[in-house]
Amino acid sequence: MINKTCFGAMPDGTDIDAYCLVNQNNVSVNILSLGAIIQSWKIGSLPEVDIVLGFDTVEEYLTDGNYVGTVVGRYANRIAQGRFSLGQGTFELASNQGPHCLHGGIDGFHHRVWRVTQVQEGDKPSITLALISEDGDQGFPGQLEARVTYQLTQDDTLRITYEATSDSDTVFNPTQHSYFNLGGHDNGETRHNLVQVCAEHYTPADQDSIPTGEIRAVDNTVFDLTEPKELAALMAQQDPQVVATNGLDHNWCLDGFEKDQSKNRKVATLIDPVSKRTLEVSSTMPGIQVYNANFLGEGTRGKGGAQYGPYHAVCLETQFYPDTPNKPEFPNAVLKKGQTFISRTDYQLILE
Ligand code: BGC
Repeated sequence: MINKTCFGAMPDGTDIDAYCLVNQNNVSVNILSLGAIIQSWKIGSLPEVDIVLGFDTVEEYLTDGNYVGTVVGRYANRIAQGRFSLGQGTFELASNQGPHCLHGGIDGFHHRVWRVTQVQEGDKPSITLALISEDGDQGFPGQLEARVTYQLTQDDTLRITYEATSDSDTVFNPTQHSYFNLGGHDNGETRHNLVQVCAEHYTPADQDSIPTGEIRAVDNTVFDLTEPKELAALMAQQDPQVVATNGLDHNWCLDGFEKDQSKNRKVATLIDPVSKRTLEVSSTMPGIQVYNANFLGEGTRGKGGAQYGPYHAVCLETQFYPDTPNKPEFPNAVLKKGQTFISRTDYQLILE
């Protein structure tokens, strides 16, 4: 089932619609035409539990600097010095984190109004949203047509499919920036959560979170999450890389990508031992940023007046590695003219 409601309006009067996908277990995911945002993700229990952070109004989303629930583009994560070369061209981007470009630049996809192009009822309700990003948007080359489809299945999986084409060679790296708190969006810290990442390697980064270029084995490091580890215990180890970002904010090189780049592989698991809820992530992408909301401001006002703060959530952002356009040794994020980019990420909620 899909319920459409009016969520609000942009400052110029454009309506922002909300489409709520509901399955037979009463799991419901509310998607906005603003930023293709996942505004709520409620599970079918009583009292109702909403497992993603979010806001109640368009205004709050437009002033949010944390990308809460949004689709991020054109390039999720960082491009060093806001610059890269492709073919004969060098492209200067709209840098928004010191000299670097984060999450697509000053005016990334997260605050754009997406066009709803398809709404499909049935036992796998789905919605497709589309966006045209003009040639030169935030400095990126090529007119890009991007689409994102959210589909909710009866086994409580939200399947996200990203597609894009461009009229000249470009780079593309979309992600979903939901802040998960499996205990409920208003349930406070998540440092007692366990995280598992199917990755034998990660990309160490400099003080600006730009990868050094090294692909380092996780063996005998705090980054070995091949078995589930508690976030609090990880942070207590005071690894300099983790201290530098006040927690996890790093990219893992997901196993199995090189072998089959179109295969949807299990990539990560988030476990809340208190609520006994688990989120399993699978993806076709080569990397994942695990970010435990280290920089979410104390007292950020969220849905229903909830107070959010650091560590109140975990983001599991599937992606190409950060700064890939400047790192030829990383799996490549180039989208060639005439090709169609397709990637998929599934988030499955498992209730005990
Ligand atoms: C980045 C963080 C950033 C957060 C919110 C994450 O993907 O890696 O450094 O603070 O998004 O913008």
